[in-house]
Amino acid sequence: MTITPNTDPFALARSLSGLHLINGALVPAASGTSFDVINPATGAVIGTAAEGDARDVDAAVTAAAKAQKAWKAMPARERGKLVVECGRRLMDHVDELGRLIALETGKALRTESRIEASVLADAFVFFGGLASELKGESVPFNPSMLTVTVREPIGVVGAIIPWNVPLLLMALKVAPALVAGNAVVVKSAEEAPLTVLRVCQIMNEVLPAGLFNILSGFGPECGAPLVSHPKVGKVTFTGSVETGKIVSRMAADKLIPVTLELGGKSPMIIMGDADLEKAIAGATAGMRFTRQGQSCTASSRIYVHDSLHDEFVRRLKANVDAMKMGDPLDEATDIGTIISPDQFARVQHYISEGKKHGTAHVCSQLPEDPSLKDGLFIQPVIFTDLPADAAPAREEIFGPVCCVFRFTDYEAVLAEANNSEYGLAATIWTRDLKTALDAAHRLEAGFVQVNQNLVVQPNLSYGGTKLSGLGKEATLESMLEHFTHKKTIIVNMG
Ligand code: ADP
Repeated sequence: MTITPNTDPFALARSLSGLHLINGALVPAASGTSFDVINPATGAVIGTAAEGDARDVDAAVTAAAKAQKAWKAMPARERGKLVVECGRRLMDHVDELGRLIALETGKALRTESRIEASVLADAFVFFGGLASELKGESVPFNPSMLTVTVREPIGVVGAIIPWNVPLLLMALKVAPALVAGNAVVVKSAEEAPLTVLRVCQIMNEVLPAGLFNILSGFGPECGAPLVSHPKVGKVTFTGSVETGKIVSRMAADKLIPVTLELGGKSPMIIMGDADLEKAIAGATAGMRFTRQGQSCTASSRIYVHDSLHDEFVRRLKANVDAMKMGDPLDEATDIGTIISPDQFARVQHYISEGKKHGTAHVCSQLPEDPSLKDGLFIQPVIFTDLPADAAPAREEIFGPVCCVFRFTDYEAVLAEANNSEYGLAATIWTRDLKTALDAAHRLEAGFVQVNQNLVVQPNLSYGGTKLSGLGKEATLESMLEHFTHKKTIIVNMG
């Protein structure tokens, strides 16, 4: 059966309400309870999400463990073909998924949500195509013994995902886990449970029942029992540093591997010889203003050479001023909303802190539409003249707030860029190849870009150092490393 796309996100949200997807079927929570899903652009309830607990986790993991046996036995390329087919079907749903994710997260449809839906589909096509690369090695051990390594799936993978880019971040876990021969149970984020559920529903039309299950619920009640379930052999987590540490401790109790994609406070350096025009465009994109700065790779610390600083700030502000804040579902909108009232209060707190210590350049305009009066809109802020140790300059805000600093000395700015507990992404703009290469080698980050600002894409290794996480995602190597065990087999022919 093929599910027909439904581009009315309100109707779709209602139809997916109060449900998990376990063993191929949409089912309510064992507790019978659910919680509200809110449209952050209006404050209106758009649907509900099943409130999962340990009983739902056990049902999903049991179904996954059962389904994984046959899936593991299937030739890798057959598995890959089914995962590619999932990607193809998701491609037909890009507009639908874009609308639904815009509705539940407040991310603008044109600048963010539709793009995310399309990268989601592409990630399944990409990993499906890698199935025949699940190769082992032949080992020159002893001429009378055939010695090889093989890659075996782990079994059941537990995946815990956040709300900021839930589709893409889920795909980067689910696609390689499935292709490698595992079954998966996802715990969605409280704030964005519906679109990922729809993705799982579409994929369950292609995949055998039980292979891909998704649960909604709160972290301690639903996420924690997933990590500690005895049949879960691997956990992959994206979220905050604090929760990452909790997850890692629980995984350590069972001695299972864990991958962690955590926070960031990513520096961007603009040297005096940079192409200013391109650097300003890059900073506008790198700061993810169109995602309200809700990105772990947001270039939220921007160091600009003294000779360019004032012009840079003026023109960056002009760029952001030209962006339209409004209804996330409106094609004309560039910037939508913050995800939740808690996050809204947190961002406001950092803005007031920054105003005490530096100069706030407040950008763009709040929407005038009265139907959006209760929406979680925040005007983007560019701070200048902040002390380097001010909280907004050091801590991850996850909001549309960037701090611009003036510098003159290259060594000093490099040291300052690295003076962070995070190490996710970094960017440098310069026309000098020697400086570019030197900085690329010395910046402490998992992802360094020179004279550009791309976002995460399949086949580009993604992940951080320091408190930004453990392990990388999005590549063939990450699939092999994180979703398989290597087994050595020796056949004595003597
Ligand atoms: P944020 O503060 O951005 O919501 P979190 O790290 O709290 O980031 O959330 C990321 C994901 O981790 C969400 O799916 C959330 O439900 C889940 N989570 C939160 N607490 C726990 C926990 N104790 N155990 C497992 N998962 C958790």
